Amino acid sequence: MKITSVEMVISAVKPEQYPAGDLPEFALAGRSNVGKSSFINKMINRKNFARTSSKPGKTQTLNFYRINEAFYFVDVPGYGFAKVSKKEREAWGKMIETYFTTRKQLKAVVLIIDLRHEPTNDDVMMYEFLKHYEIPTIVIATKADKISRGKWKQHAKVVKEKLNIVEGDELIIFSAETGQGKDEAWAALQKWI
Ligand code: GDP
Repeated sequence: MKITSVEMVISAVKPEQYPAGDLPEFALAGRSNVGKSSFINKMINRKNFARTSSKPGKTQTLNFYRINEAFYFVDVPGYGFAKVSKKEREAWGKMIETYFTTRKQLKAVVLIIDLRHEPTNDDVMMYEFLKHYEIPTIVIATKADKISRGKWKQHAKVVKEKLNIVEGDELIIFSAETGQGKDEAWAALQKWI
């Protein structure tokens, strides 16, 4: 994918703030610190475009990035921070649920997990939630550069089994460090663009 433009359009909390128009949207979900921003930055060839690490206390917003004036990446605040209060967690849950379940422009969710480890219970819950609402999901198993290539298959199998990945959902081994999996990720998104 040749990237000709990237624009940060809006940080939204409520549906009234979502951008108008009917460009396709891809939401990025994942545990805090898993490498969501690094994934976006690698995909669009920018070093520091997407905010890195959503630290607790930071405003929890959906960030809409318009790419090539053709589609949006929607950066969703990460989950799994132990230090987040119950109130904040509830607000996060409501915001995500509203967006994921009502947004017609949402074509697929890119779920980022860490290839090195078995998916967490939060990862499993997120995937189950997406399948409950029948939202097409692309699972990106990132940080592949941190384990030897010979172990990729075995780790991917653990991820597939733990998440119980359904037929039709792809798992792509990725590295924001080396660019591994970038072309496959674009190919997976391309069918909706
Ligand atoms: P986010 O909170 O999910 O947006 O995570 P970030 O993109 O900020 O990444 C968290 C940390 O993991 C940072 O230190 C990144 O440099 C590192 N990281 C992210 N992706 C990769 C990757 O593919 N390989 C390696 N080695 N490090 C990565």
